Amino acid sequence: MDKTHEKVWNNCLAIIKDIVEWQHFKTWFEPIKPAALKDKVLTIQVPSQFFYEYLEEHYVNLLAKTLKRELGKEARLEYRIMVDSGNEKNKPLTMDIPGHGFKTYSNNEMDFPLVISNPVKNPFVIPGLKKMQIDPQLNPIYSFESFIEGDCNRVARRAGKTVAEKPGATSFNPLVIYGGVGLGKTHLAQAIGNEVKRSNPNKVVLYVSSEKFINQFQDHSRNNAINDFIHFYQMIDVLVIDDVQFFNRAEKSQDALFAIFNHLHQSGKQLILTSDKSPKDLEGVQERLLSRFRWGLSADMQVPDYETRIEILEKKMKNDGLEMPKEVVKYIAYNIQSNVRELEGALISLLAQSSLNKREIDLELAKKVLRNFVKTSSKEITIETIQKMVCDYFDVPYERLLQKTRKREVVQARQITMYLAKLFTKNSLKTIGEHFGGRDHTTVIHSCQTVKDLMDTDGMFRESVMELQQKVQLAAM
Ligand code: ADP
Ligand code: MG
Repeated sequence: MDKTHEKVWNNCLAIIKDIVEWQHFKTWFEPIKPAALKDKVLTIQVPSQFFYEYLEEHYVNLLAKTLKRELGKEARLEYRIMVDSGNEKNKPLTMDIPGHGFKTYSNNEMDFPLVISNPVKNPFVIPGLKKMQIDPQLNPIYSFESFIEGDCNRVARRAGKTVAEKPGATSFNPLVIYGGVGLGKTHLAQAIGNEVKRSNPNKVVLYVSSEKFINQFQDHSRNNAINDFIHFYQMIDVLVIDDVQFFNRAEKSQDALFAIFNHLHQSGKQLILTSDKSPKDLEGVQERLLSRFRWGLSADMQVPDYETRIEILEKKMKNDGLEMPKEVVKYIAYNIQSNVRELEGALISLLAQSSLNKREIDLELAKKVLRNFVKTSSKEITIETIQKMVCDYFDVPYERLLQKTRKREVVQARQITMYLAKLFTKNSLKTIGEHFGGRDHTTVIHSCQTVKDLMDTDGMFRESVMELQQKVQLAAM
C-alpha cells in the first residue's frame, strides 16, 4: 500500500526529533505541515520565505537523508510557502519551490555550486536558538581607532562618531559619506557599524553593498518574495548601504530601497549611505530617493594631505608590526597622492619586494618600487600568465583548468583566474571565456560574482585571492 504524505512526514519527524535539539525542532520542524506526496515528491508547507531559506541552508542534508530513507533514492522535496497575512480579505499566498539540496545534477558541468544550490539564500541569517540573529557583515578591522583623522575627512569622521553614539537620534539621518575611490568611505561606514555593535550589542546592525542588495532583490523578485525582502530590511536598526551610486542600473531595486528607507527613517532607525558622488550629482537615481538622501547630512571625503598620509602609513605599519626608515615613509607619502588605497598598495608592494629579494627596505628600494608603482601595469599581463600563476598557486595542472571538470579545487581555481583576468587585463568577457575551453561570457560573469561573494564571506578564501592579486600586480611591474 502506498504511504500517505502524513505518514511519510511523521516517520521523518520521528528521526529528526532525535537528532535535532529540542528548541530547534520546535522552531523549525513543528510548524511544517505535510501537504502532498506524488511520484516520490513530498511537498511540505512552510510559513514564510525565510523559513524555507533557513531549512535549505541548515537542514537540507538531514531532510534529504531522512526522506530518502522513507521513499528511496528518487525522493525529492518541494516546499510550499504559504504566507498568511491573517487578513481575511487577502487569501494566503502560496508558492512551490523545489528543494535544491535534493537536486541531482546531470552530466552538464556544474560550475557554480554556490549560486545554483541556493538561489534565494539569505546570507545574513545565522543560526540562532531563540531569535533569528543577523550577522552584521562587518569587518572588525575597520574601527574609528584605526581611522586617521585629517582635514580631508574631519567632518565625516566626527559625524560618524556622533551617529555611532546615538544611532537614529540625531539630525544626521541619513548620514551620506561621499568621495572618490580609496578615500576611506567603506572604512568609516563600517567603523560606525562596529562601534554601535560594541556599545549596543542588541541593536541590529547590517552592512550591505549596493550590489549585494540589488542581487538579493532580484533573486527575491524572481521568486515572488519581494515583500519578504523588504520586511527583512525593515527590521534593521542601523543599516549601512555602501556605494549607492550602483543603484543607477537598478530601477526596481530603487523602489524597494524607497520603501525600506521610509520605514526605517520614520521609525527612528539609522541609515548610513556611501557614494562616489554627492547626492545632488548622482545620476540615474530617482529624485524622490535623492531628496531623502539629502534629509540628513552629506559629508565628503577628500584626498588626504601630506601630513595625514604620513600618519596613515605610520598607523598601518604600527598595526602590522612593521618598521622602516622615516625617510622611506616620507618618500612614499610624498609620491603617492591619489588616495589611501594606493598608499597602502605601495606599502605592500615595498614589503613584498623586500621579502622576495631578501633586502632591507631603504630609500633605494622604495624608489625602485614606486617608480613602477606610479605608472602601474607598465607590462601587459595576459590571461595565460594569470592562468599559470593560479595553477602554480593551487597546484592544479594547467590542462585541468580548461577541461570540464566539477572538482571543487579546479572549479575554484578557474573562477579565481577568470576574476583576476577581468581585473588585470583589458580582454572582453567573451575572450576570457574562450581562454577556458570555450565558455561563454555568462560563465565568466558568474565566476566573478561567486569570487566576490566568497571573498565577502570566507576569510581564508579572501586571503588567497588577495595574495594572488598581489602576485599578479608584482608581475605587471
Ligand atoms: P573607499 O570605500 O572610499 O573606496 P576604503 O574605505 O575601502 O575606501 O579605504 C581604502 C583603504 O584605505 C582601506 O584599507 C582603509 O582602511 C584605508 N583608509 C582609508 N582612509 C583611511 C584613514 N583615514 N585612516 C586609515 N586608513 C584609511
Ligand atoms: Mg568602498
